Amino acid sequence: MKVVRFHAPGDVRFEDAPEPEAGPGEVKIRVRNCSTCGTDVKISKFGHHHIHPPRVMGHEIAGEIVQVGEGVDGWSAGDRVQVIAAIPCGECAECTRGRMTICPNQVSMGYHFEGGFAQYMVVPREVLKVDGLNRIPEGVSFAEASVAEPLACALNAQNLARVGTGDDVVVIGSGPIGCLHVRLARARGAARVFLVELSRQRLEMAADLVKPDAAICAGEVDPVEEILKLTDGRGADVIITAAASGKAQEQAIQMAARQGRISFFGGLPKDNPTITCDSNLVHYRELMIVGANGSSPAHNAEALNLVASGAVPVADLITHRLPLESAIDAFGIVARGEAIKVTIEP
Ligand SMILES: [Zn+2]
Ligand SMILES: [Zn+2]
Repeated sequence: MKVVRFHAPGDVRFEDAPEPEAGPGEVKIRVRNCSTCGTDVKISKFGHHHIHPPRVMGHEIAGEIVQVGEGVDGWSAGDRVQVIAAIPCGECAECTRGRMTICPNQVSMGYHFEGGFAQYMVVPREVLKVDGLNRIPEGVSFAEASVAEPLACALNAQNLARVGTGDDVVVIGSGPIGCLHVRLARARGAARVFLVELSRQRLEMAADLVKPDAAICAGEVDPVEEILKLTDGRGADVIITAAASGKAQEQAIQMAARQGRISFFGGLPKDNPTITCDSNLVHYRELMIVGANGSSPAHNAEALNLVASGAVPVADLITHRLPLESAIDAFGIVARGEAIKVTIEP
C-alpha cells in the first residue's frame, strides 16, 4: 500500500509499505479521509521527540472497518468510524478522575502508532480500550468526521473557558481551529463572536465562511482598542488564542472583561514560551486563564454529534481535498495559510 512517512526533519516520503493486519484486540480500517493541520507541518519540518522514524503521519482519521481482530466485540467490517488522535491510558490518577486530556501517559496516532496518511491503518488496542473508536453518525461524511478531532479540541477548550449564553467571545487566529471556535461559540449561545487575525487575506477568507460579528485585522489596527470599542469599554467575556503567538496571549489578557476567561488554546514555540502578564489585571479583574491540551475520547464523540445535528457545520470549512500522493504539497498549502481545512483522501 501507499503511505506518507516521516523519516527525518524535512524528509517526508510518499512511498510503499506493507499492508498491516489487525492483531488480537485491534481493528483494521481503510482510511477514507485524514485531514491535515499545523501539527503535520511542524512534524514534517522539525520532527517530534515522540516520533521514532520511519513513522506514517496523520492524526485526524476517518475510515471504514475492513478487518476485526480476535477478541474485539461490537465492531464489524463495513462500519464507518472516526479515530481519536490523543490516547489516554485510562488508568492513572487523572484518567480515573475523568481528566483524560491531561493523562501523563498519553500516546498519539501518527506519533507512537502508525497514522492515517495511508490506505490502510490498524486501530491499536489502546484506542479501543478507552472507547476511542467512534461510529460516524448517519449523514456525516468521512471528510466531516475527520474534522471531529480538531473540533473535539475546541470543545475541550470552550468547556474549560465556560463559553456560554450571552458571552462576547473573541477568537484570535483565523485558521481552521479559529473557524471551528467561532462556529462552536455560536452553537453554545455566545451573544457576539469577534475574529482577530494578523493577515488581511487570511482574515477575509475565514470571515467569508464563518461570518463573525466583527473581523479585526491585527496587522492594521490595535485589536485591544477595537474590542474595547465594540464592547463599550467592557472587554470580552472569553478570549481564545488560536495562534502560536505570545503577543496574542498578552493582548487576550488586556482585552478581557471583569471575570473574563482566557483560553491559551495554541501553544507557543518551545524556544520562546514566556509572555508578560500584568498580574494585577488578573488579580483585580478576577480573570481566569486556562490552557487546553487536546481532547478526550468523549469530546470526540460529542464533536461528531455536533456535526451530525448541524449545530457546528464543518463541510464548508474543508476547502481542499487532495489524494495521498499530494499530502506533502498539502503541508505547504497549510503552512502558507492558503486553505481553511485540507483533507487527504488516500
Ligand atoms: Zn490536527
Ligand atoms: Zn491516564
